[in-house]
Amino acid sequence: MNRLRGKVALITGGAMGIGAACARRMAEEGADVVVADICRPQPVDALPDGGRIDFIHTDVGSEAEVAGAIQHAHAMYGRLDVLVNNAGIAGPDKPTHELTEDEWDRVQRINVKGVFFGVKHVVGLMRAGGGGSIINLSSIYGLVGAADVPPYHASKGAVRLMTKTDALLYAKDRIRVNSIHPGFIRTPMVEGFVEGKAADEEATFKAIAALHPLGRLGTPDEVAWCVVFLASDEASFITGAEFTVDGGYTAR
Ligand code: NAD
Repeated sequence: MNRLRGKVALITGGAMGIGAACARRMAEEGADVVVADICRPQPVDALPDGGRIDFIHTDVGSEAEVAGAIQHAHAMYGRLDVLVNNAGIAGPDKPTHELTEDEWDRVQRINVKGVFFGVKHVVGLMRAGGGGSIINLSSIYGLVGAADVPPYHASKGAVRLMTKTDALLYAKDRIRVNSIHPGFIRTPMVEGFVEGKAADEEATFKAIAALHPLGRLGTPDEVAWCVVFLASDEASFITGAEFTVDGGYTAR
């Protein structure tokens, strides 16, 4: 219950899917959480003995809005210990030669620049506070390829190496930076991807499940628990690492 007691966390894209599960589980563990999203989250029942969950409207593609959200979270609590760079979009499912420059840029703006802006504006505050934990949501598709959504895979590969670079740059400031690489997790993103693609959705979900040696999709909570761990002092000697939460997808 108290793994994050006394910590303050900002989660981008925390209104639904993996980010919402992170907000819930981190608050249950005692963190005060600020969700920065373009959508307002569903209200969460009061968490007995847990932290608060607040919301600030933020487009992570806007440097001014990301900087404002970070300042807001810090001003609310006088500290900021954890940044979860989770907001992301899948982008268009077209082969590379059919993509427009605008389609490519839109995915990089949210998935890559959003992470850059978050790190850029949080480092000074974390440094002044004596350290912190930054957790970046990459993907199995930051580790291996697949024959779809090229801008998405490029963005997740970028996030993997941004994580390692920033881990090296800020280790001396006791700021840990790690990436998480989920397999397919049943969220609005994956449901939207399947709906847009297949007439027989259940058959498609079965085929996706079969890609994972554990034989199913993951749940948002299964990623959130990894985020809780990396945010906590249990992970105090872990930085620059990549954590797969993928049912064995990348093990073969
Ligand atoms: P989701 O679409 O279900 O939720 C994404 C959240 O990000 C939403 O709340 C949305 O409003 C928010 N968001 C979108 N654009 C934003 C913007 N410009 N500014 C602020 N917030 C914005 O997605 P998810 O499946 O929960 O994915 C979360 C993260 O995990 C993403 O980075 C995704 O790439 C990554 N991921 C997901 C899966 C999966 O299978 N679901 C697998 C690997 C990696």
